Amino acid sequence: MNELQNKTDLLSLTPEELEALVVSVGEPKYRASQIFPQLHRGVSLDEMTNIGKATKEKLLAVASCHIPTVKRRLISAVDGTVKYLFELADGNCVESVVMEYLHGLTVCISSQVGCRMGCAFCASTIGGRVRDLTAGELLGQVVAAQRDMGKRISGIVMMGIGEPLDNYDNVIKFLRLVNDERGICIGYRHISLSSCGLVDKIDRLAGEDLPITLSISLHAPDDATRSAIMPVNRKYGVDALLDACRRYYNRTGRRISFEYTLIAGKNDSQKHAEALAAKLNSKLRPKRESFPIHVNLIPVNAVAESGFSQPAKAAVSSFAALLEKNGIRATVRRTLGPDINASCGQLRRAESAKKDEKDE
Ligand code: SAH
Repeated sequence: MNELQNKTDLLSLTPEELEALVVSVGEPKYRASQIFPQLHRGVSLDEMTNIGKATKEKLLAVASCHIPTVKRRLISAVDGTVKYLFELADGNCVESVVMEYLHGLTVCISSQVGCRMGCAFCASTIGGRVRDLTAGELLGQVVAAQRDMGKRISGIVMMGIGEPLDNYDNVIKFLRLVNDERGICIGYRHISLSSCGLVDKIDRLAGEDLPITLSISLHAPDDATRSAIMPVNRKYGVDALLDACRRYYNRTGRRISFEYTLIAGKNDSQKHAEALAAKLNSKLRPKRESFPIHVNLIPVNAVAESGFSQPAKAAVSSFAALLEKNGIRATVRRTLGPDINASCGQLRRAESAKKDEKDE
């Protein structure tokens, strides 16, 4: 395992880095342009028929080639959503979900093994963060899902396990890799990144010139409510976060969407809705300008450990109606894969619980 970790992971390399590696083992440069596209289609080095055995051996002496393997696959009988538990080279597992929208397949990927953000309602954070995923492991989820589905994936949401901005450098490298025209080539406009609000990283992201869509997990209009369910708020409060959103928009021109998980009795009252509208309007549209604001309401998915439950349907619609009345577009998230526990974190937890039982 150590050996694996010390070796360069082929899927993490840019075309230029792959070229340099190929040359460093005494092979001609053009091998890189043979290997890169195949690797990104999910063909492992072993399986490549146009690369000789000697070349493969030279490369595998200095590099590893691992595409995540399908450990479990759950297919929703309701809407065809497919949930994968992928195993990584070191035996850790992450979840990815493939959803079918009108315009094609979108994959939701994980960014870390576990998470250290500690949100009270979220299953992914219960065991803390084990480690960051490499750029190749981020990409590997898209590659492996596409290969397994046998159909092109045209969109990505980074809303699986982990906080993507807490794994900043690898995520940025991954975004450039998955957009590369020699590889999977998914347009930045078809990629969304969801963050719990690491303000310093949002500012950095604004300067990367990547026209992706940023989603912010807001979940509360004020610091007291937000800090009670999201520890990150104690470091970056609501005002600081919304100021960063405004800077992001001013710099990139990209619309930001806000996620708001509705939890019965915690953040779902009419008062919360009014405070949310007032806060968003005053921070993002101080002079009544037309800053586009979209709030995605997500009735919380009950996680056994948290004890939280969903508000009644009527409370969800009146929350949405109040936002709309105040000039804020609000939609209630469509639930996909309700029969396969499609929200991330749950399958990995079930799998590690099984492992713990075996270990005892
Ligand atoms: N760390 C990132 C991305 C992962 S979570 C973030 O915080 O945005 C993706 C979204 O699912 C977030 O909005 C998160 O708050 C939400 N979420 C997590 N657990 C949930 C649950 N049990 N029910 C509903 N939404 C949940």
